[in-house]
Amino acid sequence: MAAAVALSERGIPVTVFESARQLGGRARGVPHQKTQLDNGQHLLLGCYRDTLALIEKVGGDIEADFLRLPLQLDLHGHFSLQAPRLPAPLHLLVALMSAQGLSWSDRLSAARFMLTLRQIHFRIATDMTVSELLRLHGQSSMLIQKLWEPLCIAALNTPVHIASAQVMLNVLRDALNKTRADSDMLLPRIDFTALFPQRAANYVRKHGGHVLTSCGVDDLQLHDYNIEISTKRGSLFFSHVICATPPVTTARLLRNLDQLAPVVAQIDALQHQPIYTVYLQYPAHVKLSHPMLGLHQRYSQWLFDKGRIAGQHGLIAAVISAEGLHQALSHDELAQKVMVELDEEFGIIDSPQWVKVIAEKRATFACTPALQRPAQQTALPRILLAGDYTAGDYPATLEGAVQSGLRCAEQLTE
Ligand SMILES: Cc1cc2nc3c(=O)[nH]c(=O)nc-3n(C[C@H](O)[C@H](O)[C@H](O)COP(=O)(O)OP(=O)(O)OC[C@H]3O[C@@H](n4cnc5c(N)ncnc54)[C@H](O)[C@@H]3O)c2cc1C
Repeated sequence: MAAAVALSERGIPVTVFESARQLGGRARGVPHQKTQLDNGQHLLLGCYRDTLALIEKVGGDIEADFLRLPLQLDLHGHFSLQAPRLPAPLHLLVALMSAQGLSWSDRLSAARFMLTLRQIHFRIATDMTVSELLRLHGQSSMLIQKLWEPLCIAALNTPVHIASAQVMLNVLRDALNKTRADSDMLLPRIDFTALFPQRAANYVRKHGGHVLTSCGVDDLQLHDYNIEISTKRGSLFFSHVICATPPVTTARLLRNLDQLAPVVAQIDALQHQPIYTVYLQYPAHVKLSHPMLGLHQRYSQWLFDKGRIAGQHGLIAAVISAEGLHQALSHDELAQKVMVELDEEFGIIDSPQWVKVIAEKRATFACTPALQRPAQQTALPRILLAGDYTAGDYPATLEGAVQSGLRCAEQLTE
């Protein structure tokens, strides 16, 4: 949708094919029991400039659409860090030095680590795992468990022992090092389909383009002067194609194009990581002390109080990112574990009116060291690739996906 908006803006007519009934893909609204959920709780950072600008371009209002919180990490009862209103990176250094739940030497060593990263411009000569980098810089097990591991899993959706240190540093560089507002956390107040793709579709249609839902692409054939797109509604011909499907589908669609065999091999080599979200609808009086709270060494990694965020009172979302023991549980068993944790941590003894577990098994690619990600440009100049898995600084995020779409639009217009 980012590519479609950017091309539409330049007066280039586009047709978007979407296989699902609604737009949004891995960031979409999911209606359930008269409540609007998402396929998973999403969080944006202030440094997601392209995504935020795009939402505004298609008619969004960042102040109204999001609850904006200054950087804060709270692992209930174990750790808490809050950035004061100071210029970056002072806000982070003060936050680290005044963090609760860490020894004095751990706080000092975290602050020293951040200063060293600034000195090396957040670049390492050879990529390694986040664990290796943290050990190299003397970060203790406690510091890793309470600060770096939750940050790494939230940002890269990949466990520290296999996550790319360089990609983690790219995120730290952009979120923590430039302006204070870059580290703000933005929690959407409306569902994700309404937040961006639906507005983007209206924008594209207003500019003469088409957005076709329930219209998946089954096949893609390259002819001398055009590209044939086959759907169950028939075939259409285009001058160019931006393939913005998830990696597994992209590999399937491109497999018959010999020139793209190296790209298909790169995509086939990607591993994936899951994200589970457990929604629990409690009575309206049930609330948490903050809109977003972490738990230390529990199944629920982050809890979101949708009442505080979006006026959905009593609705709590528990997010479990990356691979783990929870994958061996049934949805009912996992929901039970989360309910017990809410009772033990906050004394919430009410029974939820309903529970909905959404397991996205291929939520993101596993962001491992020195990963070869396909470029947006391919060996076939009329076929481009967009998506969070394509080459870029970021892990699988909305900003990464948006940037890749914008890059495709730029290259195509050039
Ligand atoms: C549960 C969850 C939580 C997340 N949390 C965050 C977060 O907090 N912050 C963040 O930045 N990122 C988060 N992410 C990652 C983010 O959602 C993704 O990086 C981003 O949505 C990927 O966008 P994309 O356009 O690359 O791919 P997708 O969103 O997967 O889009 C691909 C589209 O192609 C469609 N499609 C598939 N096959 C076909 C076909 N044959 N023909 C036509 N269309 C087809 C799909 O239906 C889909 O709409 C999260 C992801 C998940 C799953």
